Amino acid sequence: MAAALGALFALTLCAATIPATSSEKEAGAATEEKTAVKEEKAAAKKASEKALTPEERAAETEKKQGREASAELEKQYKLVKDEAVNARVERIGKELAKLANETEVHAHYGSPKIAKFDYVFKVLDDKDVNALSMPGGFVYINKGLLDYVQSDDELAAVIAHEIAHISHHHMQSLLKEQSKLNNQIAVALLAAIVAKGSAGDVGNLMMGAQMVQIARLNGYSRQAEKDADMTAIAYLAMSKSNPVGILTFMERLARDEVARPAIEWGIYQTHPYPAERSRDILDELRKRNVPIDRRAVTQAAMAELKKSEKKPDIFEAWVGGAKMFEAAAVDGQSSEDRAKAIVEKLNTLLNSGISLRDIRRTSDPPTISARGELLLQVTEADASLSAPMTAADILREAYNALYRTLVEQDLQQVY
Ligand SMILES: [Zn+2]
Repeated sequence: MAAALGALFALTLCAATIPATSSEKEAGAATEEKTAVKEEKAAAKKASEKALTPEERAAETEKKQGREASAELEKQYKLVKDEAVNARVERIGKELAKLANETEVHAHYGSPKIAKFDYVFKVLDDKDVNALSMPGGFVYINKGLLDYVQSDDELAAVIAHEIAHISHHHMQSLLKEQSKLNNQIAVALLAAIVAKGSAGDVGNLMMGAQMVQIARLNGYSRQAEKDADMTAIAYLAMSKSNPVGILTFMERLARDEVARPAIEWGIYQTHPYPAERSRDILDELRKRNVPIDRRAVTQAAMAELKKSEKKPDIFEAWVGGAKMFEAAAVDGQSSEDRAKAIVEKLNTLLNSGISLRDIRRTSDPPTISARGELLLQVTEADASLSAPMTAADILREAYNALYRTLVEQDLQQVY
């Protein structure tokens, strides 16, 4: 049942989106029978007390589906009990849930009709990078995803995406399409049998129908994913979070998906194209004039000033966690002042989004500059401080540290 549940509701990174068969649903339902009967009686009583509008009835159905699916899910997974972890997810989730309950956002898929759901946020003790939502307001974040995000802004992006699946009633649309399709397949099969087709023909027809089903479902789930991304951006833009988090999260996912061994692509054939989604997200952020500062929402490498552990009064410039340059005192400028000037210039440049192609190196005199601005010049004093390293060696070490940092950064930005 875990796989079926995952297939039904895990829409963020959905591996496969073939809904549960009716027999699987029945098997799950049977275990829930007593609770379900009780709940139905209570619901019937409530309904007779007060006539519900069609929208309210639909919302009640979603809540009921969500409650049942959540109960089933929580039998399969352990929940994380750590209070700080839950408080973080809840703080971010509640703000976005309030926005979703108050603001109607255009729906590219599903329906934008507001149903005021009581959103619940829980953390699954599971190492997969995933999050999932159930109709009616149930949001689950895997612990693996909490380890993967690099900021609250990225976490907010994932939660906003899951809320969008719920607030735009995606599951209802998906189920409707699915039941239509099942009828079509049944009609096709019946036609084949009535026409006394050979067993082989029926087999081929079934295979074809299944393929159509999968292909069409992918279409729907991609539409649902796109709508959840666009709606998430709308929610994030109204929230305290920086909407750029959804871009950096998706870009990192795209990069890591590419790094996966080829064999996994077979299993992930219905996977929701993070590179394509990243492009759509970037377009939408630009349309909304959101400043694209990726460093603000990721743990991007910065330059830092460090005191030498071996040499008294000597300071070093570090970048991306590696030592870049050890500064000697030159022309009345202290080691600290020189190293500090490099660190400050470098951080300004890194924040403005420099990349490898902005960096120039000269050997005589030995310098590194970025966007035409001199970043550092290796002097005789630096060479004697770091002997037996030559000025050329020092320049190479500094350049390599910067190079590695920028390559790493450029890899994170696929465009
Ligand atoms: Zn999704």
